[in-house]
Amino acid sequence: MSKSYQFTVGDIQCAVLQEGEATKTLDRIAERYPTVARAELEAALGGKPAEDSLNCLYINSGGTRILVDVGFGTAGPPDCGGLVAALGGNGLTPADIDIVYLTHFHGDHIAGLTAGEGRLEFPNARFITMSAEWEEWMGRWAASESADDKRQLERFTALRPRFSFVAAGDSVAPGVTVVDLAGHTLGHSGLLVESQGEQLLHVVDLLHQSFQFARTEWHFVFDSDGDTAVNTRRRVLGRCADEGLLTLFYHLKFPGLGAVRREGDSFSWHPSE
Ligand SMILES: [Zn+2]
Repeated sequence: MSKSYQFTVGDIQCAVLQEGEATKTLDRIAERYPTVARAELEAALGGKPAEDSLNCLYINSGGTRILVDVGFGTAGPPDCGGLVAALGGNGLTPADIDIVYLTHFHGDHIAGLTAGEGRLEFPNARFITMSAEWEEWMGRWAASESADDKRQLERFTALRPRFSFVAAGDSVAPGVTVVDLAGHTLGHSGLLVESQGEQLLHVVDLLHQSFQFARTEWHFVFDSDGDTAVNTRRRVLGRCADEGLLTLFYHLKFPGLGAVRREGDSFSWHPSE
């Protein structure tokens, strides 16, 4: 069952395409927040399992078709791999995508670039990411002894000619601008979509669970630089709240769109209807 949610930002067409979803037990959540006491996590979840979604953003800006992250593709856990079907639900095939924008190089965002025997899932797309992200991962994979990391190094070295690299403030297409979100990874980035006075800020993995709006200081185990991730989280959530931005999160309950508000020193989340 593929889900998609269409909306517009001024005259830019957008859709959130669901790659997959899962619920996570308290044990799984405890592994992901190892510096937080289990009882605190249990209280933060309110006795319910945690919900996780993979929300890929599709943007059509003046005919340029951009897909922001590609999910697990065929390489993922059960209940993932729905992105191509969700594209189909919008009358699109993978061959229609002009640009794949990669917010960072974690598997749940990049694995779907290839399918099967290394065949390119989006054969006509060029790939864009932040330079800092490329450098972090090429360095990490080159220094690693693991067979998986060696494969990743080989795979991305082969894909290198399709890549172009950007920095914060660069434009990807008319009305689509790169936003620095470093911390989760060293070149983690989001996109600001703006048209006719309307705005959307896609903040990707600025946080992973809705309890982090109240507990911005809780470290997520896969953050490359945990302290910078906390500072970035506070700074960018503050911006979303103060500017009243429509905000999109990759991992919050589908479609992951809503508004952030300040609550004293922390924040709260108000999903769109
Ligand atoms: Zn992620």
